[in-house]
Amino acid sequence: MIYHTGQDPAGSQAPANSDGSVPLTGYPTPGHEEAAAPLGRPAPVSVMSAAYAFMDKDDSGHPVRYDPCRPIHYVTRAANSPAAGPELIQQAIADVSRATGLVFIDDGPTTEAPSDEREPYQPDRYGDRWAPVLIAWETTAEEPRFTNPDEGYTILGIGGSEDVSIGDTDFTYVSGQLKLNAPGLHSIIEDEGPAQARGTIEHELGHLVGLDHVKDPTQLMNPTDSAGLNSYQAGDLAGLAILGQGECRPGI
Ligand SMILES: [Zn+2]
Repeated sequence: MIYHTGQDPAGSQAPANSDGSVPLTGYPTPGHEEAAAPLGRPAPVSVMSAAYAFMDKDDSGHPVRYDPCRPIHYVTRAANSPAAGPELIQQAIADVSRATGLVFIDDGPTTEAPSDEREPYQPDRYGDRWAPVLIAWETTAEEPRFTNPDEGYTILGIGGSEDVSIGDTDFTYVSGQLKLNAPGLHSIIEDEGPAQARGTIEHELGHLVGLDHVKDPTQLMNPTDSAGLNSYQAGDLAGLAILGQGECRPGI
């Protein structure tokens, strides 16, 4: 069983720059909720491990990260959610927040549907700020990639973030999406218990904050759950700690 593909949901129709990035068509007033220093610190990493990888790197080879000096807001579309859904999301968010030091704020429910063309700036819906991260439970009708017969497996979730650069700032994640396979996770909860479903949500949150897949089967960021893992392991935690220690980006 596969958690997910490496799909970046940030696809845009705009033509790419020569470096492959997509020009912004609009963005909020920079520095919304920006503090002078990071809002939190990652939990100390007790076991050294190099079993992590990053989704994106900037020109100087650093991982692309969220700005740790402002909170990451998120909204949840409750349609199709299992009964345990809100609690599982809350627990998974708490775990990724502890591992990164990044501060998350629950902005409550939304009716926004996930989309591969989702704009990271939606002033009509969310005001003069980057759109909050969208967490949505989807049916297989909404997201046919969950049951791609050519792939021969079930995809339980798709997660990722959009990075932007304004002026000469380095690329920074500003918003993202978690597309959760509602019927697939319903079955996991019934057959294997809620902790296993929470592990899937944590895997997708790992992608959201910038972790890529690793081949090491003893890490949660391995693309299959063959080891039955349901929480972050040493390599995951080491990578998450790095992802939580980006620079303040008041220019974004
Ligand atoms: Zn994945």
